[in-house]
Amino acid sequence: MIDVVVVGAGPVGLACAIEARQAGLDVVVVEKGSLVNSLVGYPSRMEFFSTPSLMEIGGHPFPTLGYKPTREEGIEYYRRVAEAEQLDIRLYSPVVRIDGERDAFRVTTESGTIDCRNVIVAVGFFDIPNKLAIPGEDLPHVIHYYKEPYPFSRQNVTIIGGKNSAAKAALDCYRHGANVTMVIRGPEITDSVKYWIKPDLINRIAEGSIAAFFNATISAIGESSVAISTPEGHHQIDTDWVLAMTGYRPDYALLETFGIDTGDDEHRTPIHDANSFETNRPGVYLAGTVCGGLKTSKWFIENGRFHAAQIVEHIVSGATKAHDLEGRHWRTAE
Ligand code: NAP
Repeated sequence: MIDVVVVGAGPVGLACAIEARQAGLDVVVVEKGSLVNSLVGYPSRMEFFSTPSLMEIGGHPFPTLGYKPTREEGIEYYRRVAEAEQLDIRLYSPVVRIDGERDAFRVTTESGTIDCRNVIVAVGFFDIPNKLAIPGEDLPHVIHYYKEPYPFSRQNVTIIGGKNSAAKAALDCYRHGANVTMVIRGPEITDSVKYWIKPDLINRIAEGSIAAFFNATISAIGESSVAISTPEGHHQIDTDWVLAMTGYRPDYALLETFGIDTGDDEHRTPIHDANSFETNRPGVYLAGTVCGGLKTSKWFIENGRFHAAQIVEHIVSGATKAHDLEGRHWRTAE
């Protein structure tokens, strides 16, 4: 029986594990993929929008060559931190169920079972892309995860979406020889696109280097074309690739499997206490970006890493109240 199982070895999951360890709790991290799996899935040459000090966990400094960390620096930082903290992390071990109740959970992964008192779910939102629900969406040339521009040079590429992923992919593909058309359902490129990216994109659209349809949706994707609906009428354009940069959402099916109520407000915010992050299932906590539900712009590494301290404080104070100290000295009890 251990104190805490953390589900998800992303930056916030690791922050929770470190916080728990520092409070004297035993902790195991289980992760369905690689260490910092989401970062591994990001575009290859991505640079974080945050500065390194805002991404630090466990008090470990994050040195970087430039002003903003690259994806590789991020992955390597979290790997080194996990190593330095000697965290017990079980990779490629998807959790299939959580049975029991607070102080007596059994977490079943594809690799085995772990008995624990508390569970922290820090699974992010990068696993499930927002679908378009249109014919042709499942064709193999429709991609939801952009990695790099090289497969697309001298190709007709249609990019769906108008925010940061779409903007970055459009500029990157255009600069590597792709013929890019953006299909954006809003009337303009909004301020959600970072201030150092937005003017570049607007100018490329204005000069005709990147084509863009606004107030536009794609009604069907074919083998070599897409059908676009705009207020001015319908268009059929040739396309070799569709990059559906339509954002991502939490894995609600997984949360429901864990017994977490996924909420019925407009953002489908999973039910959790705003201070302790405990869910409707006592002893099961949420941490990080998953807390925002469909509002994926609410929590980031920057602010989600601080959930760790609040959750661990709640776990420790609950254990203290329950006289469950077993001779150990909790940090908050010292
Ligand atoms: P996002 O911010 O959720 O934007 C999704 C875009 O797809 C929006 O333009 C949205 O339109 C559109 N969309 C969603 N569903 C659609 C549908 N069914 N039909 C047509 N359009 C649809 O997703 P994101 O750009 O991937 O960004 C996700 C997160 O990653 C953000 O936090 C972002 O800041 C971050 N990011 C970081 C970097 C980096 O380099 N560090 C790069 C990219 C993204 P509406 O605007 O109309 O909703």
